[in-house]
Amino acid sequence: MNRDQMLQQSRERSQPWDLIIVGGGATGAGIAVDAASRGYAALLLEQHDFGKGTSSRSTKLVHGGVRYLEQGNISLVMEALKERGLLRKNAPHLVHELACIVPRYAWWEGPFYGIGLKVYELLAGKYGFGKSHSISKEETLEQLPNVNPEGLTGGVVYYDGQFDDTRLLINLVATAADHGATLLNYAKVTALTKGSDNIVNGVQWQDVESGETFHARAKVVVNATGAFTDSVRRLAEPDAPQMISPSQGAHFVLDRSFLPGQNAILVPHTKDGRVMFAIPWHEHTLVGTTETAISEPSLEPVALETEIDFMLETAKLYLDKKPTRADILSVFAGIRPLVKSRQAGKTAALSRDHAIHIDESGLLSIAGGKWTTYRHMAQGCVDQAAVLANLPDSPCRTQNLSIHGAKADAETPSWFSLYGSDIPAIRKLIADNPALATPLDSQLPYLEAEVLWAARMEMARTVEDVLARRTRALFLNAKAAIRMAPKVAPLLAQELGKDDAWQAEQVARFSETAKGYLVKA
Ligand SMILES: Cc1cc2nc3c(=O)[nH]c(=O)nc-3n(C[C@H](O)[C@H](O)[C@H](O)COP(=O)(O)OP(=O)(O)OC[C@H]3O[C@@H](n4cnc5c(N)ncnc54)[C@H](O)[C@@H]3O)c2cc1C
Repeated sequence: MNRDQMLQQSRERSQPWDLIIVGGGATGAGIAVDAASRGYAALLLEQHDFGKGTSSRSTKLVHGGVRYLEQGNISLVMEALKERGLLRKNAPHLVHELACIVPRYAWWEGPFYGIGLKVYELLAGKYGFGKSHSISKEETLEQLPNVNPEGLTGGVVYYDGQFDDTRLLINLVATAADHGATLLNYAKVTALTKGSDNIVNGVQWQDVESGETFHARAKVVVNATGAFTDSVRRLAEPDAPQMISPSQGAHFVLDRSFLPGQNAILVPHTKDGRVMFAIPWHEHTLVGTTETAISEPSLEPVALETEIDFMLETAKLYLDKKPTRADILSVFAGIRPLVKSRQAGKTAALSRDHAIHIDESGLLSIAGGKWTTYRHMAQGCVDQAAVLANLPDSPCRTQNLSIHGAKADAETPSWFSLYGSDIPAIRKLIADNPALATPLDSQLPYLEAEVLWAARMEMARTVEDVLARRTRALFLNAKAAIRMAPKVAPLLAQELGKDDAWQAEQVARFSETAKGYLVKA
């Protein structure tokens, strides 16, 4: 992955692209992988960094969705469980099994959750993870050392998958690039162009770094901009009716002492009827999530005070060591692009989960769904796009396509194991210059070598790219990330050929963004 090369590739293309994909989150990157691996010429444009939107802000679960099962949406759960199994097979360095425990505090919860979770396990069929089972009060206390013991009668264990969302995203971008796609971050689509037939035939986009404007032609333009779907649709049809209802979800991160051990807690019914998780993640405890309807999407949403209070209140009910605001190391919010109901017969495919919609302008929009099902969504989208654009038939290949970094002998999950087959190359950087083994902060494991790697091989362009999405420092511990910024800036500047003023501006800008991840005590 090299941005200058990508830029060069985009300049050199004189033919229309088979597909231009707008948006570099899970949905867009998945489509780029699918299209490129079928042999289609694909250009992906992301206005900020890959994963800046919702795709860096998930609960980090590769799951079928226990909640959908409760709602009786069996086919949706089965589809997601199959995708969960495929993702573990194709990206074993990034996805691992996670035991989730539902603690029981009332007699009826045992049979109720026990049966439900057995069904969940059965629906996975050959793609199944471990077997669900009930455990005694003593076993629950042993497996969840900080669970609230008061009134506890036992627990139900079931298995799902866990991943690191932006590491997967960066590896999807690399996979698409390996198959010939051109993908650019900091490339904002500012207009959609149309032919004399009034059908969208390309995009105008701006290189956010240089300010230069480009025009690229395409046989089909795919709008994969998540919460921003409607604003991009309105570039082609200013009166396009709203398709997305944005809804915000927040998480916060505590240190490991709040959830020692390897297991997660699932609370199936919070006071507002949501599912809530406390999950061990990168040697920390991730707690979430909420659901709050919002009117306008933002690229940097900020968790509401009410969301923080609600999560603390719920966590206190289930944890023996009670977290307070002062314990929160980082808080972050993401926006669910919930798809509104059917649009006047024009929706090409619609499920409760995601929708593929074709406007009269020929713009193909895909929104909704979840990280877990990105591959399935991409398959459906490229199938539709190929018909729309008259592309030669080419079957989907992603079901058995290894994702960049996959290696058969996946190591014990750690921050470093996520690099998978890239590990030897990073180790070589360190062997060549042992100073690069220096940690960037005592509170987090990240090394100086990772900054170089991110800049050289993963298209990191800013301090924020390194600290938020190549490493997860900002999401794990915002204060530590702020301390790391002045160490990252010179390393990055050296790689990217930037001066002192750039470094100072980067550190200031990152510190400002990071303030949104701090919680008032
Ligand atoms: C709180 C929360 C928790 C979740 N947890 C899970 C989970 O545990 N497991 C799971 O499977 N799913 C989960 N999800 C769902 C999952 O995160 C989303 O379905 C997925 O990330 C959506 O990806 P996307 O690519 O559609 O959107 P985004 O990731 O938002 O990507 C859209 C991109 O489009 C770009 N863009 C917008 N306008 C333009 C333009 N004009 N030009 C160029 N680019 C543009 C944006 O910058 C953005 O990066 C969760 C969602 C939320 C909100």
